[in-house]
Amino acid sequence: MISKNLHDAINAQINAELWSAYLYLAMSLDAESKGYKGVANWFYIQFQEEQAHARIFMNYLNSRDAKVELLPIESVPSTWNSVLDMYKHTLEHEKKVTSLINNLAAIANEDRDFASINRLVWFIDEQVEEEESAREMIASFEAVEDNKYGMYMLDKELATRVYNVPSPLATAE
Ligand code: MG
Repeated sequence: MISKNLHDAINAQINAELWSAYLYLAMSLDAESKGYKGVANWFYIQFQEEQAHARIFMNYLNSRDAKVELLPIESVPSTWNSVLDMYKHTLEHEKKVTSLINNLAAIANEDRDFASINRLVWFIDEQVEEEESAREMIASFEAVEDNKYGMYMLDKELATRVYNVPSPLATAE
């Protein structure tokens, strides 16, 4: 049985993943309003990925016979100074999410809840990728910052990103 402590923390994490989805949806809309369709596409895929993260945790609680509790989602900013600022915010946000995931793993470890540790390993690896991709995007936008043609080409490239169902959902549903 999952501990109350971990159950509550995973419910809070479901809310945090949905808040992340909301944040990236806001960035997608702001990028679109600024004329960056590729960046809007990139953040829309982030929005989809975060909803998938929430779903993975929901499936996990269900599989452990623990009730999912949906909490209110706090509001998010609606505008950023630049696309580069969006990616800097993304990196800072993902670092916070990493610490939340690490905290869940610490609780599971304390509980000697090996099934939960096993589920959380996927998220630990995912956070390494999230931080890496945010850093790569910051470097790309810093490289072309004052170059309109560079910005145009980079935006075009980001328009090609496609959503892939994360592996825990691809096999579970
Ligand atoms: Mg996430």
